Amino acid sequence: MKIRTRFAPSPTGFLHIGGLRTALYNYVYAKKHGGQFILRIEDTDQKRLVKNASKELISSLKIFGINFDEGPNFQEIYGPYKQSERLNLYKQHYLELIKNGCAYVCLIKEDTLLPILDIQEGLQYLEHDTCVVKLKIPDQGIIKIFDELRGEVQFDLNLIEDPIIIKSDGFPTYHFASVVDDHLMKISHVIRGEEWLPSLPKHVLLYKSFNWEAPKFIHLPLLLNPDKSKLSKRQGDVDVESFIKKGYLKETIINFIALLGWHPNAADELFDIDFLIKNFSIDRIQKSGAIFDIKKLNWMNSIYIKKLNIQELILLFNKTYPNHKFHFSNEEKLSKIFNFIQNRVKKLDEIPSLLNPFYDDFIIEDSEILDYLKIEEAKIVLQYWYKSMPSSENINETYINKLTEKTANKFNLKGKKIFYPLRSALYGSFNGPDLFTIISILGIKETKKRLKTYI
Ligand code: GLU
Repeated sequence: MKIRTRFAPSPTGFLHIGGLRTALYNYVYAKKHGGQFILRIEDTDQKRLVKNASKELISSLKIFGINFDEGPNFQEIYGPYKQSERLNLYKQHYLELIKNGCAYVCLIKEDTLLPILDIQEGLQYLEHDTCVVKLKIPDQGIIKIFDELRGEVQFDLNLIEDPIIIKSDGFPTYHFASVVDDHLMKISHVIRGEEWLPSLPKHVLLYKSFNWEAPKFIHLPLLLNPDKSKLSKRQGDVDVESFIKKGYLKETIINFIALLGWHPNAADELFDIDFLIKNFSIDRIQKSGAIFDIKKLNWMNSIYIKKLNIQELILLFNKTYPNHKFHFSNEEKLSKIFNFIQNRVKKLDEIPSLLNPFYDDFIIEDSEILDYLKIEEAKIVLQYWYKSMPSSENINETYINKLTEKTANKFNLKGKKIFYPLRSALYGSFNGPDLFTIISILGIKETKKRLKTYI
């Protein structure tokens, strides 16, 4: 069998992190089996459309390297790939279902739907009046459907009402359009979120009504908050764009979402999309909900940040925040700062506050620090260090260590009483990097300037 999967988002906003997982699983499954991955835009709900959403979706997928083989305006073998452009195809198909008695027309009369049982009469109304079309669901019985992940799933037909397949505006509903398209686009595997499982009997009955063979179905586990509620805004923003803005690397996001419901055979949880293509398999997808653990995401991101070389990190920071205010002209200084930063951040959005103290315009606003710097004991340290700074920019760690020792002996001070005043004046906080790191980044000139200011 030729493997063809699809991602079929509705362009109603930004790409949801769960949608990205669906796209990823579909993509890697197709690639693993040398098949095709198709992008289809499901824009039949005209009221919910958001301008440019399709474009954003496509560019988000691209960022993550999830490239489709067929899609809107690209390799349109079974196109168009936008449902709003396929209305004539749907018409052909719903007429077929009305004629074979599997669907029927309902006339809209004063807000109620009046079923028209006679086929010819129904077709007449459809042409001249405002109508909807419904699918006939058998009144009784159980329908058994095989989900590749969940095995046999049963649905009581008694509980399913005849669904509308064509709305009064002539547009198909999701159920109808997606079944027709999955068939016409020769989709072999439908991999999608568990929230679509309840719709499955309607879809399978549609396949039966057309006498079509249904594709294989895989319904992915729900994404959950740590308290096991459905992943929602409560956890923070859930659109992919906002994860990028917060400074999660795309490599982290792919790795992290791959693990939301799937695990490799190996213990190592760190891998890239190529590993996933090689190793992904449906039988390792879990059935129970997958918890979205921000702590794990942060941990993973800090690892991916550490893997970058300094130049890559700087580049990525500039790319993620093109309007940031930091313009360090000195490359060497910049590398030193990012060397220090790299081991301390979990996300790129933590970088500005770490950069701030190294910026030449830095001013201390914290009143606790400012008060502390007024203490005589603190001033003595600052004065001594000001005097002891070498005149050239040459400084090494031994020099700083020796100076610390000398300060201790001379003024009978130790530990915090030496570090706090210096770190406060040079870095604006009691805690932070060691003195050598601070001074070597700032340079002697700037160090002296800061010491003088607070003396
Ligand atoms: N358009 C549906 C969505 O927005 C697609 C569901 C499916 O994959 O069948 O999620």
